Amino acid sequence: MYKYLFGPVPSRRLGLSLGVDLVPKKTCSFNCVYCEAGNTLNLTVTRKAYSDLNEVKKELVHYFEHNSDPDFVTFSGYGEPTLDTNIKEVILHIKKIRPDINVAVLTNGSLLNEKEVRDALGLADLVNPSLDAATEKTFKKINRPHKKIDLQSYIDGLIKFRRKYKGKYHLEVFILKGFNDNKEDLLALKHAIERIEPDIIQLNTLDRPGALKGIRAATYDELKYIIDVWGFKNVEIISTTGLDKIRNNAIIQDIESSILETIKRRPCTLDDLTKILNKKELEIKKYLEKLTNENKVTMEKLERGVFYKSLI
Ligand code: SF4
Repeated sequence: MYKYLFGPVPSRRLGLSLGVDLVPKKTCSFNCVYCEAGNTLNLTVTRKAYSDLNEVKKELVHYFEHNSDPDFVTFSGYGEPTLDTNIKEVILHIKKIRPDINVAVLTNGSLLNEKEVRDALGLADLVNPSLDAATEKTFKKINRPHKKIDLQSYIDGLIKFRRKYKGKYHLEVFILKGFNDNKEDLLALKHAIERIEPDIIQLNTLDRPGALKGIRAATYDELKYIIDVWGFKNVEIISTTGLDKIRNNAIIQDIESSILETIKRRPCTLDDLTKILNKKELEIKKYLEKLTNENKVTMEKLERGVFYKSLI
């Protein structure tokens, strides 16, 4: 078991993605009300070596020696990866030992106004920051940032990075009903996005419970309405909430193919799959039973438990 690596997780957007989690749970410059990892335990803007660089490098070497290459190595996890000052060295290390693998960084973007962070992320192939609010009041309400984070310099950092960055730049906007879906906030966001000029704007909403009880996801139609208000052509909805039956069937097939893709690479127990795919045990079990009945999957009892193997 690795300390800093997780997955690989199959994803529709990134293919097979190996996760790197550099900061301890949950260290972040934000404490977003929708955070699926729960409340931030260490709300900070202090950049330092949270990870053990040699250990991260060793884990990566070990992983690549014993597994087939993923499509992406993605910095994400239970906190804000740019808080770790080792991130640049880790990206360089990946590029040195596996130059052909793409590197992605999922970040809240709040530290992009620091040159060192821009320099480090400039080495990645895909940078995916977020921006949920462009008015002070809503920014504080939804992201609950560290008190040293100023909204305007946060947005300026997103713009500055865009000016020099040559890779793919996808901006995620998380929409929460009653927080940032009113006209004033949508127009402020539109104005900020026009200045940031991301390649793609990804609209997301709540799929699982967040840190705060009672918050509500936007429906698919509400997200479509936002796209109309903005008038941007480069927006994609990445949430699964409110999708119609056809899209839901696509998701079911997606989960099935995620399971198959994972166990094709290496047999897994139910527990492994639950962790890798980040789904509930019961849900994975349901799909495994279906795939077993369809003779696509077989089981083998070994010392560590029952392992599932692909038959196709
Ligand atoms: S920025 Fe990400 S990790 Fe940090 S609190 Fe928000 S959702 Fe959670």
